[in-house]
Amino acid sequence: MADTPKKTAEAPAGAIAERKEFDPAVEECYARLEEKVRASSIHMDMARIRAAFELAAEAHEGQKRKDGSPYVTHVVAAAEITAEMGLDEDSIVSALLHDVIEDTNVTHEQIREKFGESVAGIVEGVTKLTRVNFTSREDEQMENMRKMLMAMCNDIRVILIKLADRLHNMRTMDYQTPEKQRIKSLETMQIYAPIAHRLGMQRIKWELEDLSLYYLDPIGYQAIMADVDSRREKLENFMGEMEVKIRARLDEWGIPCSINSRIKHIYSIYRKMYTQKLDMKEIFDLCALRIIVDDISQCYNVLGQIHDMFKPVPGRFKDYISTPKPNGYQSLHTTVIGSEGIPFEVQIRTWDMHRVSEYGIAAHWKYKSGSAGVAAGDEEKFAWVRRLLESQQNSDAQDFFSDLHVDMFADEVFVFSPKGDVINMPAGATPIDFAYSIHSAVGNSMVGAKVNGRITPFDHVLQNGDIVEIITSKGATGPSRDWLKIAKSGSARTKIKQWFKKERREENIVQGREAFESELRHAGLNVADVTPAILEPLLKRLSLPTADDLYAAIGYGGVTAVKTVNRIKEEVSKAQRAAAQKTALDRLNEAADRRGERDAKKRPHSIQGVLVEGLDNCLIKFARCCTPVPGDDIVGFITRGYGVSVHRTDCKNHITGRLDPDGSGRWINVSWADDVNDSYVTTLKLNSRDRSGLVMDIATVLNSLNARVRSLSARDVGVGMATANLTLEVKNLEELNAIIARLETVQGVSEVVRTGA
Ligand code: MN
Repeated sequence: MADTPKKTAEAPAGAIAERKEFDPAVEECYARLEEKVRASSIHMDMARIRAAFELAAEAHEGQKRKDGSPYVTHVVAAAEITAEMGLDEDSIVSALLHDVIEDTNVTHEQIREKFGESVAGIVEGVTKLTRVNFTSREDEQMENMRKMLMAMCNDIRVILIKLADRLHNMRTMDYQTPEKQRIKSLETMQIYAPIAHRLGMQRIKWELEDLSLYYLDPIGYQAIMADVDSRREKLENFMGEMEVKIRARLDEWGIPCSINSRIKHIYSIYRKMYTQKLDMKEIFDLCALRIIVDDISQCYNVLGQIHDMFKPVPGRFKDYISTPKPNGYQSLHTTVIGSEGIPFEVQIRTWDMHRVSEYGIAAHWKYKSGSAGVAAGDEEKFAWVRRLLESQQNSDAQDFFSDLHVDMFADEVFVFSPKGDVINMPAGATPIDFAYSIHSAVGNSMVGAKVNGRITPFDHVLQNGDIVEIITSKGATGPSRDWLKIAKSGSARTKIKQWFKKERREENIVQGREAFESELRHAGLNVADVTPAILEPLLKRLSLPTADDLYAAIGYGGVTAVKTVNRIKEEVSKAQRAAAQKTALDRLNEAADRRGERDAKKRPHSIQGVLVEGLDNCLIKFARCCTPVPGDDIVGFITRGYGVSVHRTDCKNHITGRLDPDGSGRWINVSWADDVNDSYVTTLKLNSRDRSGLVMDIATVLNSLNARVRSLSARDVGVGMATANLTLEVKNLEELNAIIARLETVQGVSEVVRTGA
């Protein structure tokens, strides 16, 4: 939509002369709009605005509002609010046409032809928002709803017009049913007022809030109104007095300014009463006085004067000029005590700040579309929003930006059901995802899909704001396997798989078996390799009763053929390793038999206190690297020709040896028997500070423990350190640990470690 709309100033030719006349009430309403438009600082083509009005008036002909007035007065009033916001010509034209697509026969195409792409796009956008069903949502989803609403508006003017529309509807709610009043007020409070706030449009936000409160809590609203009214005269006199005083002082100092005062809006008082549990009388700033000056330095000047004249309330001064609010609001705020001890709030700001505070983003709009009357392209439109937001180094501002800009929702898409419910799906979602997100029965009986009223292929990627309708049929054959590739969401794929699982067992078995066998061949295995011994544990692990169930699972996609075959490959090589181990053990047993050492009764029998799994009699030796003693966790290694070597399981030769593919099958389980020997040789290493008498002290300790020492040597390893190597015999780990504990107490010894680990 980068093209600027073609102005149709000349059409219809001699527009003013051929001007159509409508009902006087309608014309009167239009005259007010015209007045507002003429007062705008932006130059506008009145003939084009009139043409839009005439199209709307004709299209809505005969339609009435609940109060009996012609329907078109509503759109004219909304356009008037749009003009007050300071929006451009396209916005006013769009506001006039905002209900024609929804409520009359006028089409998008006709609007585009007459008023250009931009207007048609805006009207389409407002129409989509109108169809959204916000009220069916729960509280926590409201933030999502606000985001979606923003995301849907790729032109910010859509949301501004929607705000104008809503404001006028709220102003004229008296004739609606109480039910509708409640629903609309709630929606306004939860959706539209917060959006107005984010866009910095204070005036609209206040009015929306007060109108909503009026319907949502009439009693609370009336109570505050009554209280304010009872004090109104007094407050107004007081504020007038303050105004006079301040004006006199500022005149004296030569500061030109505009001063006005107001009583704060009802909802802000209401919220303070309820959130801070305050009584009306405790609420400080019922009155606010606003001083508008020409530049920033004057703002601070005025602040100084105010604080000189009145006593400021501590902790109430806020400088939103140096630190603007996330929505762009700037002002100095202070609360001071006036005469008679009445506190009041003073807001000081420049004219620029004032415009922003009243109309927020729309105020920026005014400058952008500018007096030159050049409509900005979309790129530029977002550029200024971005600049506005980037200038605020605030995380809230970041949030706001991401809310506003469509691209920031890269991973989500929001679409509508035909009823206007919002469905949130992952980006890239298709009608298949949509159908299954409603119900699996809808997905399973889907035969077609319509997006925005047009028949669409199933792989169509849905866009924000699309209206999606699923065509179902009782005779539907169910999902196709291709849908699994098209569906974007995990939940849709799961539901499709479930269908295949239930509905197509025979077919799944055939398909699954084919996939499985082809994958087997791919992995270099034969069907014959898949023996029951291999398959059974796998089926058990997957909780599948039979091989057919496995094939069926592969068929519907519950299990992948690749994963299954990978598991089978593992099982096959495990079986091969076990076979290799058995061969090695058999050979050792045979050798033992030849030596005549084999116990005839085949009773498990310990050799030097060690039991070897699967071996009754063989040579045992304790590895020298780690010298295990009873109590250590141990493991055996079938050596080539020298029986079984016993290591500690934490020995580094065991740990690295397990990784060696040639040797990994030769590790076997061994354990300590009950009948262990009295003595096992083990070695220790002591690290110590090098000092004279070290060896003597170690020997003394060992002696006191009655340790059976085989050798003890120490050597200087430089840098003042020494290492002692100790070989000794112990009965078991308990004895060894006791010795280690004592050695650690020898003066200078920093560490006592066992070798091998
Ligand atoms: Mn409307």
